[in-house]
Amino acid sequence: MEYRAWFQCIKGCDPTYDLTDIIYECPNCGSLLEVRHDVERLQARSAAAWIKLFDDRWRRTEWPYGSSVWGKKEWICPNVHNDNVVSMYEGGTNLFWAERFAKSVGMDDLWIKQCGNAHTGSFKDLGMTVLVSMVKQMLAEGKKIKGIACASTGDTSAALAAYCAAAGLQAIVFLPKDKVSTSQLIQPIANGALTLSIDTDFDGCMKIVKDVCRENNIYLANSMNSLRVEGQKTLSIELVQQFDWEVPDWVIIPVGNLGNISAIGKGFLMMRELGIISRLPRLVAAQSANANPLYLSYQTGFKCFEPVKAKPTLASAIQIGDPVSIHKAIPVLQEFDGIVEQATEDELANASALADRSGLFNCPHTGVALAVLLKLNERKMFAPHDRIVVISTAHGLKFPDFKVRYHRGELKGVTSRYANPPVELPADYDAVTKVIDERVQAMK
Ligand SMILES: *Cc1c(COP(=O)(O)O)cnc(C)c1O
Ligand SMILES: [Zn+2]
Repeated sequence: MEYRAWFQCIKGCDPTYDLTDIIYECPNCGSLLEVRHDVERLQARSAAAWIKLFDDRWRRTEWPYGSSVWGKKEWICPNVHNDNVVSMYEGGTNLFWAERFAKSVGMDDLWIKQCGNAHTGSFKDLGMTVLVSMVKQMLAEGKKIKGIACASTGDTSAALAAYCAAAGLQAIVFLPKDKVSTSQLIQPIANGALTLSIDTDFDGCMKIVKDVCRENNIYLANSMNSLRVEGQKTLSIELVQQFDWEVPDWVIIPVGNLGNISAIGKGFLMMRELGIISRLPRLVAAQSANANPLYLSYQTGFKCFEPVKAKPTLASAIQIGDPVSIHKAIPVLQEFDGIVEQATEDELANASALADRSGLFNCPHTGVALAVLLKLNERKMFAPHDRIVVISTAHGLKFPDFKVRYHRGELKGVTSRYANPPVELPADYDAVTKVIDERVQAMK
């Protein structure tokens, strides 16, 4: 059976567009497009049959279905021929049972979805595999495209560069100068992308890359391109799959451009439409207080939205003042009885460090989500046995400076409450055993 998907304006304007068309916004009203699926055809297969198919493919080797994105291909992007798929075995990331951390803060059923345990170290791989595969499909059909470009706060560019390198395609990445971590900067450089370090912030890079793509036969890979949202949608499907097809009660997500929360919402809604789940979780969007336009809008009951000038934040991947997907995210938050909460630099750094003490290794964005988790817990928002999932968006190893400076007590505006700096000693037995005696008690 043939499945079909196409682009359509999120406001529902006609006409529709092929997924091979180079188009990101509605020519009629300027809104973003979204990928729509032929749901009737999908409904011809029962929920139980979909579950069985997805479970049979899960982490196996039959190309390309072992990838958790392509294992759900019919729901994501049926338009790509399997020969054109560019995949590095996406998804299937660990759902970390945060038992000790949860107990330490009086919670019960807490899980951290480790999306950073991925090829390029962030969840961005989930969407990029779909976008780059679609470009390969377009080239195979004779479209002329010179390169694929994105503005990035560091992780999108790393993913784009890796997938392009794997496929032999040209990546062009626009990074705000001195605003991404060294690890994030070196990723596109190593993968051979044309790396442009621009003297502006993310919002400034976004403006330029849009103009460049409009004129120059260059394909835009930012999340305003809704192909990425389709891949990221698998995050919620995979979550439910990992809980043996049960829906958690809460999902807490660090947000910037608001593509990911839109995608997660879309995945849950699609599962409900196709009968796999019957209820929705509550979604919580977690913002840095230094880049909080969504939080401010939430305070008005989403009646108004104003972009802000984002201030520097340790959570550099979400230092975004004018989120592209705002008009996708607000309806999602309304549908999911959503909450938006913010975290200060002090709160995000300490939450990240506290959770690290139970075996995690959190990036600062995950720190934002963890700080929001702690705030909602203190406010008694959670019922005693609620199942809570925190989306960890990147690997902590991408942000070594953040960690090092935290433990040295060097972060501005942060009191490092869980600092654990190394003890510097001479190579002397007595000096070493003295410190061990002072610092280490018998294990229980
Ligand atoms: C991209 C990114 C986010 C934010 O996702 P949006 O879709 O922009 O809201 C959060 N954390 C990390 C680590 C990211 O790379
Ligand atoms: Zn429109």
